[in-house]
Amino acid sequence: MLFSEFALLCEKIEALASRLEMRDTIADLLPGLAPDDLPIVVRFIRGLIFPDWSSAHLGIGPNLLYDAVAYVAGWKRSEVIALVNRTGDAGLAVEHLLKEKTQMSLFAEELTLGDVYATFLKMADTAGAQSQKEKLRNAKLLYSNASPLEGRYLTRLMLEELRIGVGEGSVRDAIAIAFQVSPDSVNRAHQVMNDLGEVARIASVDPNALLNVKIELFRPVKMMLAQAGSIEEMVAGSGEVCAEYKYDGSRFQFHRSGERVAIYSRRLEDLTAALPDIADQLSNVVSGDVILDGEVVAIKDGRPMPFQTVLRRIRRKHDVSAHVDQIQMLPFVFDILYRDGAGLIDLPLSERRIHLESVMSGCIAPQIQSSNPDDLREFYHTALGEGHEGIMLKVPGSPYIPGNRGKHWVKCKPEVETIDLAVIGGEWGEGRRAHHFGSFLLACQDDDGSLLPVSRVATGINDEMLGLLFDLFKDRVISTTGKEVSFEPGIIFEVGYSEIQKSQNYGSGYALRFPRFIRIRDDKRMDEIETLAQIEDRYRRFGSRLDPGHDPAREQ
Ligand code: ATP
Repeated sequence: MLFSEFALLCEKIEALASRLEMRDTIADLLPGLAPDDLPIVVRFIRGLIFPDWSSAHLGIGPNLLYDAVAYVAGWKRSEVIALVNRTGDAGLAVEHLLKEKTQMSLFAEELTLGDVYATFLKMADTAGAQSQKEKLRNAKLLYSNASPLEGRYLTRLMLEELRIGVGEGSVRDAIAIAFQVSPDSVNRAHQVMNDLGEVARIASVDPNALLNVKIELFRPVKMMLAQAGSIEEMVAGSGEVCAEYKYDGSRFQFHRSGERVAIYSRRLEDLTAALPDIADQLSNVVSGDVILDGEVVAIKDGRPMPFQTVLRRIRRKHDVSAHVDQIQMLPFVFDILYRDGAGLIDLPLSERRIHLESVMSGCIAPQIQSSNPDDLREFYHTALGEGHEGIMLKVPGSPYIPGNRGKHWVKCKPEVETIDLAVIGGEWGEGRRAHHFGSFLLACQDDDGSLLPVSRVATGINDEMLGLLFDLFKDRVISTTGKEVSFEPGIIFEVGYSEIQKSQNYGSGYALRFPRFIRIRDDKRMDEIETLAQIEDRYRRFGSRLDPGHDPAREQ
């Protein structure tokens, strides 16, 4: 497939208003694609370059792209930035610049989808001192062979923000229609393989094979998550429940085959180099080839330390070994997904636990099982007393569903209303906050992944954090209008709030009252931020409490 054909497809989809039309357009296209192009199209169309399980990244920011296009189009960098600010979209700005390009390259070649992907792979592969230079050279190469429309989508792909409105659900449904398989089998294969591109390829060759896909070593799957809930609801729903401490650390997935080990974060980044002590501790107590799920916690004087301590260790790129001894980090393993060639995710939790206990001689998170709310309440108070966040309740008969946040796992912890939102903009500060961003614009996501503003936050940010946030965001500025700036999305804030209200002021239709910055959530991926549906749900739950006809006193 030529990249120009892909660009035309994106332009067509971008003009469609309905998700069903998008789905059908993609479904019509997929069966006719060459086998090598199919997985690439399936990823690119969602603005993804690599499989979901892969920790590969292009590692380039908007500024590098502005340099590349300035060079190719013969403009000054400052002029490029001014144009991006005017259009508010780097893709459209590049398209405009390539249209205006005075000199056409004599050696321009037609880009194929495969060429573009191969160049992206090269970019992701370059590391070390010369890597930015090398990435710039490759970006220039792509732009010098690109038509204006190709430039629009190349830019957005490289910024990992395609903005054509295609969500994961539309692509899953399109694959099901294109290859006449059930959406459930596509969904399940996606959970296990964590790459819709590969799922589409298998569906195109042998739809039945989708049912037999297996979890694989060194291809991390998304982690199973929990809903908020209570001991009483859980016992009423499932009788006997398993309970474990809810550790406040960082989630990990450990893969081991023979001598080879890897540790992945909740965002599926490869953390092996940052956590050699965890890899050693686990290797010493595990036998056979396994995939394990757990939480790593920092411990001082026998008590857990705040989760930020763990994150600081994980983010440390240099002198890792010097820091290994300073803070004791302990892994607590609570699940096993794979053992010696067999996937275990479809087994009930109670059977997985038996496997876990038979492959490990230590590092297992203690678990109790009970149908008595009093026992579970006591366990909850012990957990809090020992400095943990609360407890996790799990249905003993439940399978492990990668990426699922359902009723099988429920977290119980003291109530605080917090929400995780993407930072999409900011405002230059005043007075003490001049030369820094003084407030930040936050957004939730719609079903298709588009970002909808829901609040601004300025409270709760101390001077040290203000400086840190400035360093973090200064290279993410996409456009500036007066004091307002918009940022390339990618950073997530957890904020506390007192109430959610309907509001005309923000694109989501909702606003937070008294938002307060709590922390940066760099353990979460962008697709894990709050959805509009979840905000609506919070609003409904909170709204009913405020219902004037409702008299809380009568409940006493
Ligand atoms: P929170 O903001 O409350 O930490 P979250 O959005 O990060 O929640 P949840 O799904 O609410 O994630 O809670 C699950 C998280 O709790 C897991 O991702 C994991 O990191 C952590 N956790 C700690 N102990 C356990 C445990 N015993 N079983 C499962 N997850 C656990």
